[in-house]
Amino acid sequence: MEESTRRPTKKKVVAVVGGGLVGALNACFFAKRGFNVEVYEIREDIRQAKVVKGRSINLALSHRGRQALKHVGMEEKIVSQGIPMHARMIHSLKGKQSPIPYGKKDQYILSVDRANLNKELLTAVEAFPNTKLNFDHKLQGWSAETGLMTFVRSDGSKEQINADLIVGCDGAFSALRKQFLRRSRFNYSQTYIPHGYMELTIPPLNGEFAMKPNYLHIWPRNTFMMIALPNMDKTFTCTLFMPFEDFEKITTGDEVITFFQKYFPDAIPLIGADTLKRDYFRLPAQAMVSVKCSSYHIGDKCVLMGDAAHAVVPFYGQGMNAGFEDCIVFDEIMELFNEDFSAVLPEYTRVRVPDDHAIADLAMYNYVEMRAHVNSKWFLFRKHVDNI
Ligand code: FAD
Repeated sequence: MEESTRRPTKKKVVAVVGGGLVGALNACFFAKRGFNVEVYEIREDIRQAKVVKGRSINLALSHRGRQALKHVGMEEKIVSQGIPMHARMIHSLKGKQSPIPYGKKDQYILSVDRANLNKELLTAVEAFPNTKLNFDHKLQGWSAETGLMTFVRSDGSKEQINADLIVGCDGAFSALRKQFLRRSRFNYSQTYIPHGYMELTIPPLNGEFAMKPNYLHIWPRNTFMMIALPNMDKTFTCTLFMPFEDFEKITTGDEVITFFQKYFPDAIPLIGADTLKRDYFRLPAQAMVSVKCSSYHIGDKCVLMGDAAHAVVPFYGQGMNAGFEDCIVFDEIMELFNEDFSAVLPEYTRVRVPDDHAIADLAMYNYVEMRAHVNSKWFLFRKHVDNI
């Protein structure tokens, strides 16, 4: 059936709570199916905001995520704004760099700008005639019995809204999920790892990338590590992952330099000693949480997706990608069950929970792999043999 002939016939209202990466993409999936889609986002429109607060400046987009973007015609656009990373580039203490490919020669992941990706997705949502973006709408609470949602605006005013389906894409600290916690037989676990993360920038050198751009650079130091992903403006965003107690031991600019001289000496001239001394104290290290829950739905009324359902630690680079894949899986089940929410929602939980939990476990495993195992001679040898 032609999309244009499908759209006006559907009258059901889908409320997507959260206009982040997964919420915005999901809104496109529902809009494509002809639903009337309302997106409610706590923040102002990031396309107009001067400062966009987010959790990481860039992220790795992989096959999973690309497949989902392809479904809504966004793949090419986003890929053209990303930088391919064919391999990890391991930086030894002495500054030696050794590549470890991710796969075969033509395989790669992409470094993409988080804010830009979110902006592009919001613009894609708006391009559908059957969507509405509602910014400055904070979900305060909702009733699992009636589906009535209460939103608060920044001026203190409140709005009560109903929808046929509520899709919770409101991130790791989901307000929507709170109602799930009150229900019997809802399993939930949340784990904060002892590490925090801090972002630093490597500026361009003479107008060019200061390191080889088509790599995900890693400085593995066993109990902690730093990584760097390239940006389109020829900078790199470095992320230092380290136990909070180690972050807290460093209290002066000189101590920062001493620490970097000991563990990341080649990064000092790249970041710049003065910048490093200043930027280390710009923001406190951020926490990382892993959330697992089940089930993902309540009746035929509400479903959780993305980080709201499964926040994972970032070491496998799959949080967003898995959230994007949620959208495809849900869409396929919608097709299979003729968009009957009472059948689609339980099936989605049945199919998706094991896969999302597996991603969470793999991410936790890669937490050790990236900072320690990639360091071992055996690992480097094995990877070398694998890639011959
Ligand atoms: P979010 O991005 O958190 O979006 C949630 C949205 O909901 C936000 O816009 C928020 O403002 C809104 N919201 C929150 N509460 C409310 C409310 N009460 N009412 C209305 N709106 C609300 N993933 C990858 O795939 N690859 C990577 O390389 C990668 N790197 C990462 C690096 C770091 C340091 C971190 C922390 C994460 C990384 N991730 C990565 C994971 C990725 O960031 C998340 O999985 C992804 O952002 C999840 O998207 P989401 O839309 O579900 O949630």
